[in-house]
Amino acid sequence: MFALVGRSIESLYQVARGLKTVFKHTVRPPITKNFPDDMPDLPGHFRGRLALAVNPQTSEHLCISCLQCERVCPDKCIQITSHKSPETNKPELIEFKIDHGLCMFCGLCTEVCPTSCIINTNDFEMADYTRESLVYDLKRLTLSQDESAHYFAKKELPMPKPKPPKPAAKPAAPAAAAKPAEDKPEAKPEVKAEAKPQDLPAAPAPESPKKEEQ
Ligand code: SF4
Ligand code: SF4
Repeated sequence: MFALVGRSIESLYQVARGLKTVFKHTVRPPITKNFPDDMPDLPGHFRGRLALAVNPQTSEHLCISCLQCERVCPDKCIQITSHKSPETNKPELIEFKIDHGLCMFCGLCTEVCPTSCIINTNDFEMADYTRESLVYDLKRLTLSQDESAHYFAKKELPMPKPKPPKPAAKPAAPAAAAKPAEDKPEAKPEVKAEAKPQDLPAAPAPESPKKEEQ
């Protein structure tokens, strides 16, 4: 009898706890968002679509083609094409491709980047119809100045310094033909004195046989 009463009280207590939770959430404002009309305010460290930032002040590209992100990527989904600039003698970016169909959004590439160029944005709406369209090239990856400024502030990244100006092109060496003639020491042709027959020492005349004195 006592056990039955105890179990009944315990059941009523559990029902009361459940009803309390129901009433509490009935009066609370809803936490669900009316997506996509109401976009969520994601934190700065959210790892969404990858992008390349530019300097928010000067709009110059921040990638220095160091290839660290390409090397560290475990999925090998980054492909960088660069060449050595003849002006600065440093690597210069030509093309940058990221296959978002392979990327697992681990964020390793963003951690090793020395210039904070490659970043994870808050964009997560990347659904597409083909795998090829998930490969983003340099143009699709590069953010605008305003977008870059937004992410630099949101991620609390230090503002990049402007790149040093390119060295002035060396003046071309003047052509040899353009040089004034007096600059060149005139090569005097070596005149070999021709040995004239009259200059040659006269050959001793053959001794005429002496006539015996009679
Ligand atoms: S987030 Fe990870 S998988 Fe994606 S490109 Fe960067 S390193 Fe590779
Ligand atoms: S690590 Fe940064 S600077 Fe280096 S190649 Fe990648 S994006 Fe460019």
